[in-house]
Amino acid sequence: MVKICCIGAGYVGGPTMAMIALKCPDIEVVVVDISKPRIAAWNSDELPIYEPGLDDVVKSCRGKNLFFSTEVEKHVAEADIVFVSVNTPTKTRGLGAGKAADLTYWESAARMIADVSKSDKIVVEKSTVPVKTAEAIEKILTHNNKGINFQILSNPEFLAEGTAIEDLDKPDRVLIGGRMTPEGQKAVAALKAVYAHWVPEDRIITTNLWSAELSKLAANAFLAQRISSINAMSALCESTGADVSEVAYAVGKDSRIGPKFLNASVGFGGSCFQKDILNLVYICECNGLPEVAHYWKQVVSINDYQKTRFVKRVVSSMFNTVSGKKIAVLGFAFKKDTGDTRETPAIDVCHGLLGDKAQISIYDPQVTEDQMKRDLAMNKFDWDHPQHLQPQSPTAFKQVSVVWDAYEACKDAHGICIITEWDEFKKLDYQKIYDNMQKPAFLFDGRNVLNVEEMRKIGFVVYSIGKPLDP
Ligand code: NAD
Repeated sequence: MVKICCIGAGYVGGPTMAMIALKCPDIEVVVVDISKPRIAAWNSDELPIYEPGLDDVVKSCRGKNLFFSTEVEKHVAEADIVFVSVNTPTKTRGLGAGKAADLTYWESAARMIADVSKSDKIVVEKSTVPVKTAEAIEKILTHNNKGINFQILSNPEFLAEGTAIEDLDKPDRVLIGGRMTPEGQKAVAALKAVYAHWVPEDRIITTNLWSAELSKLAANAFLAQRISSINAMSALCESTGADVSEVAYAVGKDSRIGPKFLNASVGFGGSCFQKDILNLVYICECNGLPEVAHYWKQVVSINDYQKTRFVKRVVSSMFNTVSGKKIAVLGFAFKKDTGDTRETPAIDVCHGLLGDKAQISIYDPQVTEDQMKRDLAMNKFDWDHPQHLQPQSPTAFKQVSVVWDAYEACKDAHGICIITEWDEFKKLDYQKIYDNMQKPAFLFDGRNVLNVEEMRKIGFVVYSIGKPLDP
């Protein structure tokens, strides 16, 4: 029986390994992590992450051929294939701070694999890493020269949070990059055989190592670029009377462009887009390509601009101050169907409102109060002025309340900001909400989930991204 071990039981490691276990009953899969609470949660009824369909997949194979453990070294030593799916956040200090990927976790995982291995292994980069990382990993794995054959593969993950199970079940493609040597290609074939249990052959792409590593960064950069492109258009729409939804529809009908990922919004979030673009910017700079670096940097700059523009619109619409006014923030997760708040635009919007002394009342169906407060206590990195970072004042939390009901959040509020496109926000009784608010009642739809005309008919003063302003 082939044994797989995955280091890192996070948003990627957990679901991807659960899918492999489900589709490959002949393979034993152990997911290991240094975090005891995370592993305990994976072994309980309350999984550590919210992802539609994940519970069923995990429950159907856990204890059979899927295991979660903190005995990292033991399971790595026993495995034939070791996936590494640890976090690769942006470096916060030292060389490349604010842009480069922090590979500390990766390096320590690689050193541990080298130390505990007694048999040949295929080591798979599942985390998103800078192009050429495999070269460094090879050096680390072979540093103690035990005569073990390590083959490194790049197999980046393209799942999107909120639709992870669907994406893993029917991936657009699986990408495997390996060395072009006979041994490298043997390793590629071995990993291909795992995916071939359920992924059609024409969807499994094999490339050289560097193409696979770079493709992941490129894919995220292209996706984020589409969002920044439509968001940039949304600003122009507001200045000219064009409607961004109509523009997106017309543009997306061009088969060369296509309709997906053209929804204007308050800005993208999540742990990947910004981090991976900053990483790409850094790689371009290190390779003497400042113009290319500048091009991709603009995708992040427009995203920051969009978030700031939203906050400014809220404050300016409400007679230039929100001081002492109650603002309901609907949604805190970075997108619907996840509890993940990493880099969520909600943090920037809340910071902006708190800075103008608003009282904010937040509701999100999946994010806990503790998580929100941890996020709001964090500093936002300012690209151009890192020296200006100030810790969030603890007194600001007196201005924040977290509630477990959208109606409660909106009660007596002067304004509402919709930050996450949760389906339930489309179905709320907005007449009831309006009746219980201060007047004039403002509605700022950061995801364009509501019908502007219907909301105006109820009586709201409405601002929707990229839509004609109130007459
Ligand atoms: P995560 O933070 O949710 O999980 C990483 C896990 O690795 C943590 O539980 C951490 O405790 C564990 N870990 C770190 N060092 C370890 C070590 N030495 N030994 C054992 N465990 C260790 O991160 P994630 O969201 O799952 O992302 C992982 C990687 O996948 C990142 O590189 C990310 O860019 C990439 N990725 C993420 C997504 C996504 O949607 N989240 C999608 C595609 C790719």
